[in-house]
Amino acid sequence: MSDIRYNILDDSYVIISPERLHRPEYMAWKKVKKKILSCPFCEGNEEMTPGEIFAIRDRDSHPNQPGWSIRVVPNLYKAVQIETPNTSRTDGIYKVFEGFGAHEVIIDTPKHFETMREWDKDTYTHWLLAIQSRIIDLRYDHRLSFISIFKNEGSNAGATQAHSHSQLIALPIIPHKILHRYNYLHRHYKETGHSLIANIISQEQHDDKRIINENSDFIAFCPYASAYPFEVMVATKKGISGIAKMDHQNIEQLAQLMNDLMPRMYQQLGNFDFNLSLCVSPMQKTFQTISFFDDIDAISHFMIHITPRIYRHGGFEVSTGIIINPVSPEESARLLRGENA
Ligand SMILES: [Zn+2]
Repeated sequence: MSDIRYNILDDSYVIISPERLHRPEYMAWKKVKKKILSCPFCEGNEEMTPGEIFAIRDRDSHPNQPGWSIRVVPNLYKAVQIETPNTSRTDGIYKVFEGFGAHEVIIDTPKHFETMREWDKDTYTHWLLAIQSRIIDLRYDHRLSFISIFKNEGSNAGATQAHSHSQLIALPIIPHKILHRYNYLHRHYKETGHSLIANIISQEQHDDKRIINENSDFIAFCPYASAYPFEVMVATKKGISGIAKMDHQNIEQLAQLMNDLMPRMYQQLGNFDFNLSLCVSPMQKTFQTISFFDDIDAISHFMIHITPRIYRHGGFEVSTGIIINPVSPEESARLLRGENA
């Protein structure tokens, strides 16, 4: 059983989840091929996971059987669970929410050793379609206010399972960091009449120093104030507020851009560890979102954020929140474009 505890000192939330402690350490299996028989995410081992919520499968295959290209299942080691009542209580001066929410695993591919390095355009397309389908479905649950979609690759990025997967955590509350960002985006919109992210993309196109690649619908660039070497932002050029609003052509364009971008990153960084997250805007009008919710589509912009975890952070970063980045975003972008010095 998990708790979502409110930190009254920092105006932030913490999930206390003892169940997560019992996760097996699968990373050690990465190089031991003979042990992948026991991997719950491999094709043929479907009975080792809870029943699938979504899958893209061959026409003649059956749910929870082989014959799939992507599967979504509940996380066995949930940080939060949908069966828990969505209630909160006070604990002296503290506030705590029951650990209500959804925690799902997107098994990106049936093949154990296929990382994003080996994905083709169809794998990216299926991955995006699976994420889109889950977000559209979960938006109907009005108890859920926020969805986080992320992927951890490698032990430095916090991954504990070597088989390529992404995760979805849906919560009844909105994290402080997200709320702060949306209030900030809304203030800019009210003051200027423009979306801040659209303005950022215009400046990137004007400066033309930090762009890596682009197509008709999407652009990838290293952000001006990148906190990490080779940090990359992928954003819509068409003002699409989120993946739920994308049509088939948008998904194809995004898959094509990712299929061009990721090999560039592997080319420069080798088998690097990274965190990847998709921006999903807050879903319900609540006491937390009432100030900006009516303008949510105008201020939201679909983005994917990729942060390579090459260096560990020290005391200065932990105590101040200011990260020292030893590689400029202009240099990162130049290398990712494949240009020589
Ligand atoms: Zn596997």
